[in-house]
Amino acid sequence: MDLGLKDKVAVISGGSVGIGLAVAEGLAQEGVHLVLCARDETRLAEKAGEINARYGVKAIGIKVDVSKADDINRLVAEVDKSFGGADILINNAGTGSNETIMNAPDEKWQHYWDLHVMAAVRLSRGLVPSMRSRGGGVIINNSSICAKQPLDYEPIYNVTKAALMMFSKCLANEVIKDNIRVNCVNPGLILTPDWKKTATQLTAGTDTTWQEYLDQIAKKNAPIGRFATPEELAQFFFPVLTVRQLLRRLHLLRGRRLVECGGVRQMPTKRRRDDETSDYDCTGSD
Ligand code: NDP
Repeated sequence: MDLGLKDKVAVISGGSVGIGLAVAEGLAQEGVHLVLCARDETRLAEKAGEINARYGVKAIGIKVDVSKADDINRLVAEVDKSFGGADILINNAGTGSNETIMNAPDEKWQHYWDLHVMAAVRLSRGLVPSMRSRGGGVIINNSSICAKQPLDYEPIYNVTKAALMMFSKCLANEVIKDNIRVNCVNPGLILTPDWKKTATQLTAGTDTTWQEYLDQIAKKNAPIGRFATPEELAQFFFPVLTVRQLLRRLHLLRGRRLVECGGVRQMPTKRRRDDETSDYDCTGSD
């Protein structure tokens, strides 16, 4: 598939494994040069090297904790130095939580706020100027179905992901005049190594295998009855990167919202007035 992205530059937070890596591989296949960032430097170097060898694009890994402002400043400077800026930003780094509102301390709220919201704010603020000077760009924020349908054990995750979704709408309205489109994807259950690790821990010493445990979760929560793979979800990011141009070319830009579901039971939503801001719910939980 030629999405017309050859020689664009993408920055992907959390691009070393799971969903971020699947998106990175898909973009590399399209000839996009990559900046992958995460904390584990060894894994980053390994994945960047593999992508480089397999797809012939320039891929570099930069060790960054995206919850820290200084690290993001350093990342933005490195992107400028190595590529002269970026065309695509995927704000993807993040992780689940486990607490009650009554017991979680302020520090935990602050950490997840920095990780899920401020990372996207700071990376956008750092990279939008170069997108502007390159004629436009695309930002995709990877939130979660939990932004709309909370899971009871992770209120901090739910709240910060909902904030990321609202941030996406606000930023979209602010930068569309610069030909920069911002969208938010809300995945449901996606089978990444993190889920396998959690399931293995939770089933240790029981008669249930980690596969059975995840199968039960999927049957209970996802109307499609299974986890989606990171690669399946990544396929959904690519049309989001190009869909507005395609629709414009076809003179069809009359719609307001595109939603891809893996059998999600939708909550009723009001019609929006803007046509440049969308969130996309994919393979969601019930
Ligand atoms: P993984 O745990 O597989 O990958 C997370 C990635 O983020 C890794 O590359 C990790 O690298 C990086 N990362 C984590 N914390 C930081 C940090 N502080 N600074 C920089 N990088 C960081 O997660 P998934 O692929 O499952 O999830 C990716 C995103 O998708 C998350 O935001 C998650 O909330 C969201 N999501 C996932 C769903 C799922 O079912 N899997 C469902 C809905 C949303 P390192 O550890 O080396 O830093």
